[in-house]
Amino acid sequence: MQVAIDGPASAGKSTVAKKLAQDLNYMYLDTGAMYRGVTLEFLKDDVDLTNDELISQKLKNINLTFETIESEQHLLINGEDKSQEIRSIAVTNSVSDVASIKQVRSFLVAEQRRIAGKHDVVMDGRDIGTTVLPNAEVKVFLLASVHERAQRRLLDYQQSGETISLNQIEEDIKNRDYKDQHRAISPLVKAKDAIELDTTSLAIDEVVEELKKIIEK
Ligand code: C5P
Repeated sequence: MQVAIDGPASAGKSTVAKKLAQDLNYMYLDTGAMYRGVTLEFLKDDVDLTNDELISQKLKNINLTFETIESEQHLLINGEDKSQEIRSIAVTNSVSDVASIKQVRSFLVAEQRRIAGKHDVVMDGRDIGTTVLPNAEVKVFLLASVHERAQRRLLDYQQSGETISLNQIEEDIKNRDYKDQHRAISPLVKAKDAIELDTTSLAIDEVVEELKKIIEK
C-alpha cells in the first residue's frame, strides 16, 4: 500500500505521516528532508544554481540515506548525520530554489520511487500524489492557515535555538509556498483524486485518526 501526503509548508505533513506510518507499521519517507539535504550540500559548496554541469557532478557525489535512531528518522549525507543542519533557516530559505532544478528533481524522484518499490510506505512532500506515486492507493492533501503553520514552525525553531519572529516565519512560509506552487516542474498542486483535509484546528492525533478513516474506506 502507498499513502501519499502532500501540502504546503509546515501543514503538519511530516508529523502526522510519521505517526501514521508507525501505527500501520509502514515505512515513512520524508521527501522534504531529501531536498533539504541536497540544498545543504549545495550551500556548503556555494554551487551556482545555473551551472547544469556542476549540479550533475555534485549530485553524483551525494548519497542520501535514512537511519532510525531512538524512533526518530535521521538523514545521513554520505554517512554523516545532518538531521539538525537541514532544518536551519538558511536551508529552509534556499530549498525551494534548489527544488525547482530539473536535475535535482529527477535525481530525488528516482530515489523516492526506488525506495517505495520495496515497502508499504507513507510518503510526504509536494508532488507525491501527482508525480512520484501517481498510482498511490491513498492520496491526501493537508492544509492549515498560514498563521497556524507559522506558529508550529516557531516552536521548532525555538527548540533548536534559532531566533526568528512569527511575522518573518509567516513571510518565509508564503514565499516558499509561492515558489513551490509556481515552479515549472511538478509544482505544488492537489492531485485530482486527493482528499483535502484542513488541519488548522486539529491536534496531531485527530489528523492521524482522520487519515486512518480515509485509508479504511
Ligand atoms: O517538507 P519540507 O518543508 O521539509 O520541504 C522543503 C522543501 O522541499 C519544500 O518547500 C519544497 O521546495 C521542496 N520539496 C519538493 N518536493 C517534495 C518535497 C519537498 O519540492 N516532494
